[in-house]
Amino acid sequence: MAGVKVATMMGATGIVDEAELRELSTVFHGQLLRGGDAGYEEARQIWNAMIDRRPALIARCADVADVMKAVALAREHALLVAVRGGGHNIAGNAVCDGGLMIDLSLMKSVRVDPQARRARVEPGATLGDFDREAQAFGLATPLGINSTTGVAGLTLGGGFGWLTRKYGMSIDNLISADVVTAEGKLVRANAGENADLFWAIRGGGGNFGVATSFEFQLHPVGPEVLGGLVVFPFDQAKSVLTRYRDFVESMPDDLSIWVVTRKAPPLPFLPAEVHGREVVVLAVFYSGDIAEGQRLIEPLRTFGTPVGEHVGPQPYTAWQQAFDPLLAPGARNYWKSHNFATLSDGAIDSIIDYAGKFPSPQCEIFVGLLGGQASRVAPDATAYPQRDAKFVMNVHGRWETAAEDRRCVAWAREFFAKSTPYATGGVYVNFMTEEETDRIKGAYGLNFDRLAEVKKKFDPDNLFRLNQNIPPKV
Ligand SMILES: Cc1cc2nc3c(=O)[nH]c(=O)nc-3n(C[C@H](O)[C@H](O)[C@H](O)COP(=O)(O)OP(=O)(O)OC[C@H]3O[C@@H](n4cnc5c(N)ncnc54)[C@H](O)[C@@H]3O)c2cc1C
Repeated sequence: MAGVKVATMMGATGIVDEAELRELSTVFHGQLLRGGDAGYEEARQIWNAMIDRRPALIARCADVADVMKAVALAREHALLVAVRGGGHNIAGNAVCDGGLMIDLSLMKSVRVDPQARRARVEPGATLGDFDREAQAFGLATPLGINSTTGVAGLTLGGGFGWLTRKYGMSIDNLISADVVTAEGKLVRANAGENADLFWAIRGGGGNFGVATSFEFQLHPVGPEVLGGLVVFPFDQAKSVLTRYRDFVESMPDDLSIWVVTRKAPPLPFLPAEVHGREVVVLAVFYSGDIAEGQRLIEPLRTFGTPVGEHVGPQPYTAWQQAFDPLLAPGARNYWKSHNFATLSDGAIDSIIDYAGKFPSPQCEIFVGLLGGQASRVAPDATAYPQRDAKFVMNVHGRWETAAEDRRCVAWAREFFAKSTPYATGGVYVNFMTEEETDRIKGAYGLNFDRLAEVKKKFDPDNLFRLNQNIPPKV
């Protein structure tokens, strides 16, 4: 019988026959795509251009019924399944070779209830989609720093950004979620219903089913906030980073400051002689009163002698897109990440050492600041255990051509190894590459065994295995 060859979970090839696919397509509201179909090439692309995979089938779901049908197809044929939200994950698990890709990117609605200060969000929505709707009511919740990232993957791994010190991680603001389990059933997960699942999806990634809706608590933010960059020459890096480390210890939760070291892009507020040279950037965000924020950040300018700055009041939605040009899709990317409880002298020295050897103009060493409300939650209160991660360092290896792969990946790996002694040993699951299976226990930390129990209950056959995988407890 004619059919489509599709990879199975166990690494074999199965056949899904044409009659079954025809029948499915009569009830499917979205699109069922195969190689050669219009839209297939676009649908298989994700943010990281290093990932080039060809699923046998792409189920572009339009609604929950489509998701249930796609999961049922996968389960009945034991297919290899990838789940795509915003398609940003560096490991590339949103797409698979030869299997079934469940693509949620058409499901983008964001519905805000301004009275209750809550939002219901579909799993294909990006941070930009979310912020646009929530800010129409002067509301927001903590999400990441790049507007094209997916709400779904970010939230399932934990989620943090500029509002995290004040309001916690994205998961700390999650009230409930709807999940299509491996059995193909839609269940609600919140504090009262399926509380074990609700605990697990707050940091356990996509291991437990396909989330089709997220409900978040919102907070009044902006619409105007204080944001911007203060840029220092690289030869002042030691002073800037040391003073930064000390300064953040006593600053209010409303204020967040991240550090970026990179070669300076040709930003108009930087003198031409700095363009293309290494710099240290303090990226500043303050969500309280603007004048108070200006007062609070004044000392930053004494950390060295800035070569330029661009800080001022701006719409929250504009600041949420400020880094988009530097993080546009289509480049080749390889990341490595460490959590630090403190920025020790050794960590600072290793950052300076490797920032002095950037192998491409787009490479960066990013240090995100957490603490505040994120660290006041117990490590076992949600599946995300890294509450001691005050600084999350991300080595953004980023370049344009395959010819540069080896050199750029080697730089990231070498720096990662050199800075390991100063790190907590934990890692943020959303910053891991696919090759880091040896770090999975470190990522889930003390919650690993409990996660394996919940996995056994909701996905005993490990249908959802293309992720930082938690095998079901045996
Ligand atoms: C440029 C850039 C900036 C970033 N900045 C931040 C940041 O500031 N803060 C932060 O916390 N993280 C940040 N991240 C990391 C980000 O959180 C992860 O890449 C996250 O996985 C992206 O989610 P996604 O839906 O876009 O990705 P996808 O690649 O679509 O999904 C990632 C994985 O999540 C699972 N998944 C996705 N959707 C679902 C669903 N609905 N149901 C079940 N499983 C699902 C799947 O296993 C999938 O493989 C950034 C990433 C990039 C590339």
